[in-house]
Amino acid sequence: ESAVGAYPVAETLAPAEVRFKGGSLAVSKLDMAYGELQVLKGVDLTVKPGTVTCVIGPSGSGKSTLLRCLNRLVEPKGGDVLLDSDSILAMKPEKLRRRVGMVFQHFNLFPDHTALENVMLSLTKIKGMPKHEAARIAEARLADVGLAARAHHRPGGLSGGQQQRVAIARALAMDPEVILFDEVTSALDPELVKGVLNLMADLGRRGMTMVIVTHEMGFARKVADQVVFMDEGRVIEAGTPVAIFDNPQSERLKHFLAEVL
Ligand code: ADP
Ligand code: MG
Repeated sequence: ESAVGAYPVAETLAPAEVRFKGGSLAVSKLDMAYGELQVLKGVDLTVKPGTVTCVIGPSGSGKSTLLRCLNRLVEPKGGDVLLDSDSILAMKPEKLRRRVGMVFQHFNLFPDHTALENVMLSLTKIKGMPKHEAARIAEARLADVGLAARAHHRPGGLSGGQQQRVAIARALAMDPEVILFDEVTSALDPELVKGVLNLMADLGRRGMTMVIVTHEMGFARKVADQVVFMDEGRVIEAGTPVAIFDNPQSERLKHFLAEVL
């Protein structure tokens, strides 16, 4: 059985063998504070091109803040992040967000726009692409996530799983080097979770670099190349799924796994 055997390619996915460009990240000594509250305390992390990194850890440990730093939704206080060899702190945030996409727990779709328009909007607004060209790309990305037939539905007429696929199509449409996922299945009805996880596993197989904050330990074990355990603003352990889940070193990780597994 392959490492991702439990997450087969969704039958709805377009057969096209998309090969993503898959950038790398090198996070060094990253510090971040909300006012007096120090939330990231010297985070170091390496993400190799075309790999899947799953970030796990207790609530409040700084996982979301780490992702937000990686595309500068919040500004780090210290340290640096290299995207390929470019410092993200030296980039304009708009330029960074074309290269590093993000998908959120609550989809963040525009309710008054169709699925197609939601995917088109970032292309026309951020990339300044003409509408007809944006529509062509948006249709292709919706097909990639199995939603070609739902292009003209508004978010309210789609299931949570379908809305999350639209959000993933929107991220893909920017042709990013890295996609960040913050608990993207946490708000979904249980029967819809697997479809979204399958899609993410498939993107990983096609070479997308992904950093995924998740509570889905089965997914992390099967799909991740690297699992990162955070607690209290620090990376406590990072390693292969086998190292993290079967051979945890620290008391904190052992305790966390005992709570969640
Ligand atoms: P996680 O995603 O691991 O649950 P977060 O990164 O969301 O953790 O939060 C880390 C810490 O930062 C928590 O103590 C949280 O309460 C605090 N925090 C998060 N967002 C904000 C904010 N916008 N303002 C102030 N404190 C925040
Ligand atoms: Mg969070």
